[in-house]
Amino acid sequence: MKRYCYYCDKEVGYQVIEKEIELEIKGVKVTYPGKIAYCNECGHEIDLPALDDENIKKANLEYRKRLAAALYAERRYRGKVIK
Ligand SMILES: [Zn+2]
Repeated sequence: MKRYCYYCDKEVGYQVIEKEIELEIKGVKVTYPGKIAYCNECGHEIDLPALDDENIKKANLEYRKRLAAALYAERRYRGKVIK
């Protein structure tokens, strides 16, 4: 499988590495196990739309989880205050 690398300015081989990616969505910081493709020749990141889609899906899922947890914590907190 080969892919265009902007830095090498040619089609290159690449490897996909899994790593924790930190991202901020609407002020909420999320970390998720993302996948990033690196050029075998220069080591720079390569743009891979398929990986981007996968990463965005994971980020959104993580974001919703964080949001749900925050909402739950807030409700519990409010419940205590009212009592
Ligand atoms: Zn390269």
